[in-house]
Amino acid sequence: MIACLGRIVQDTDADSIPDDDVSTLSESLGLQGTIESGGITGVAGKDFGGLYSVKPLALIKPSGSEDIARVVNAASRTSHLTVAARGNGHSINGQAMADGGFVIDMRSTEENHFKPLTIDGSHYIDVSGGALWEDVLKRCVSMFRLAPRSWTDYLSLTVGGTLSNAGVSGQAFRFGPQTSNVTELEVVTGKGEITVCSETQNSELFFGALGGLGQLGIITRARVKLQPAPDMVRWIRVVYTEFEEFTRDAEFLVTQEEGESFDYVEGFVFSNSDDPINGWPSIPLDPDHEFNPAYIPQTAGSVLYCLEVALHYRNSDRPSTVDTAVSRLLERLGFIQRLKFQLNVSYVEFLLRVKQAEEHAKANGNWDSPHPWLNIFISKSSIVDFDRTVFRKMLKDGVGGPMLIYPLLRSKWDSRTSVVLPEGEIFYIVALLRFVPKGSTVEKLVAQNHEVIKWCNKEGLDFKVYLPHYQSKEDWKRHFGNQWTRFVERKTSFDPMAILAPGQKIFKRTHIIQP
Ligand code: FAD
Repeated sequence: MIACLGRIVQDTDADSIPDDDVSTLSESLGLQGTIESGGITGVAGKDFGGLYSVKPLALIKPSGSEDIARVVNAASRTSHLTVAARGNGHSINGQAMADGGFVIDMRSTEENHFKPLTIDGSHYIDVSGGALWEDVLKRCVSMFRLAPRSWTDYLSLTVGGTLSNAGVSGQAFRFGPQTSNVTELEVVTGKGEITVCSETQNSELFFGALGGLGQLGIITRARVKLQPAPDMVRWIRVVYTEFEEFTRDAEFLVTQEEGESFDYVEGFVFSNSDDPINGWPSIPLDPDHEFNPAYIPQTAGSVLYCLEVALHYRNSDRPSTVDTAVSRLLERLGFIQRLKFQLNVSYVEFLLRVKQAEEHAKANGNWDSPHPWLNIFISKSSIVDFDRTVFRKMLKDGVGGPMLIYPLLRSKWDSRTSVVLPEGEIFYIVALLRFVPKGSTVEKLVAQNHEVIKWCNKEGLDFKVYLPHYQSKEDWKRHFGNQWTRFVERKTSFDPMAILAPGQKIFKRTHIIQP
């Protein structure tokens, strides 16, 4: 087998492996699943970002963990082959790619696990690392009336893909990110071992893999906490002119006890203009809603702020009860009273809201164009400065898509995971979800992202890039800060030859096992 791998790798161009070599490779790996090369691997060399493309050696569609372990073991017997798990390829900067290496299509394993469990009266679901969150949602709600507690805004992402980062949305203030809502993982490590891990069993691997950027192992199964699924959601948007009032209200809501606040809290910045994508028209939740700019105070600046909240309820709740609960919460907030938009939607519809935007963008041809997105966690101590310069000046005309900003609580994140955060209990996620507008170029937008980060560094802001992307080890060291040593130790323990997730560009493949 090794001879076969060695010959294929040394003698052929990654995108032109002859078919008989592929079948030899497949046979020698002893896979239950399939292996593809040539043109078919095209998808494995691309991602949602559309900024990078590489040529993998082959795309493997494994049947399960054993196949994945076989591929990792085979790679480990060569001097330079790497292995990248590909969830749904929704990374921006090539993080799920393997140049000249094996890409494992995790989606082929999506059906392998789907098992509900009740442990000490609490509900869980065991799901595949390659399952899409949207499928987990639909199946859990329709079969058990239960649902995971913590989400991402968009659900065509895989369980393993978001758990390798964090998984953040408007529920994270209460339940923490998705990495705080799993209790057990099955992982194929970079040593090719299939290992079950949890807080009490192989805990270094468990916490290391959560937010571990795919560096320690490939998540093949996750045990996700569930809660009773509500039937309906009151979805509300309210508008502010002053950043200080917007942040004061958002922080008030995320620091209240359950039952004393909304179930979902997010927010975004938009341009104070009639631009259909970046301005007022982007705020109403329904075509029947009208955003009347006459209600915007004269004192308003170049941008406005929208607080987006939602309250769960049951079909059996009386409308007046829901109205009262919503009014009681809204009356404590200082938004522009006449700029309030609300809609009742089913819980599943609410969680799938970005899917609709995807369908529109696909119809307009925008979905498949490049997306130079930038996500940053910024501490409360730095957020006012960030708003003053970045939102109100640099990005005052928008980014061709949403500019999210909402507060999160550090205490809901487990510091034993590999995720890195800024200091302080309250920090904000800022997401610049750029679509390339006509008249601009990707290069220009990427340059603007760099400018934002450069400015943050120059001003000494307390921040960490989320879904990070760096080219040099020095930058990665700076990113991990005082967690770098722990991360390197974990890497050395679980992927000593740096076979996994080469697209993150953190460690270089080696054939010498580090001590
Ligand atoms: P991929 O892009 O395929 O992989 C990401 C990384 O994880 C790669 O390094 C890959 O090798 C590794 N990986 C993949 N699967 C596994 C596995 N099973 N085990 C170990 N490593 C693995 N993020 C949020 O937190 N909140 C949001 O609201 C949010 N919304 C988004 C909306 C859109 C439209 C998009 C495109 C992205 C969004 N993201 C959001 C970012 C998203 O969480 C990450 O890009 C995530 O990595 C994508 O998941 P994926 O399954 O496509 O992973």
